[in-house]
Amino acid sequence: MTKVNTSDSDPHEAVSQLCPACGLCCNGALFADVKLQRGDHARHLKSLGLVLERKGKIVRFSQPCACFDGKLCRIYADRPVRCRTFECRLLQDVQSGKLTVSLALARIRRARRYAGTVLNLVRKLGQQDEHLSLSERYQKVFAEPYDLSGDLKVIRLRGQLLQAVSKLVNIMERDFLT
Ligand code: SF4
Ligand code: SF4
Repeated sequence: MTKVNTSDSDPHEAVSQLCPACGLCCNGALFADVKLQRGDHARHLKSLGLVLERKGKIVRFSQPCACFDGKLCRIYADRPVRCRTFECRLLQDVQSGKLTVSLALARIRRARRYAGTVLNLVRKLGQQDEHLSLSERYQKVFAEPYDLSGDLKVIRLRGQLLQAVSKLVNIMERDFLT
């Protein structure tokens, strides 16, 4: 297992320093799916445990990824092209020296905290599809009709969810998406 180094000494060690503490690009918080690219071998990836779906010419797998163990990628050496080439903004900023590792880790902790809050709220609101990405889950909750004169607890939870989602989306756009 990769050791997390919280020192700021070597920005080139960013992947091993940040990713095991994060996982947001594998656990369904940042993306709903990943499309296979030229150079990927679908049959091989399937044999490693990825659950692939084909729609026309596009082959994709959903997130949370079946090969994510909660901390690391179980098929790291064989992971798809998109996973190899993706570098979130935080990672890029640490690698270029714009951001320290400790500041990046603090931003990861904050993003994970908000993702956890959103997850708790969608569960409390009855959304139990654990195989769906976080965005699909909160969209399903918001798509459900509800009665403003109904259960106060539900109205309050939906308000909290709206606020947490708005905060999470801002964090993802600012710190992670490129
Ligand atoms: S979102 Fe960035 S820091 Fe987090 S696991 Fe993915 S590449 Fe690593
Ligand atoms: S294959 Fe590995 S790197 Fe790619 S999304 Fe799944 S767990 Fe993450």
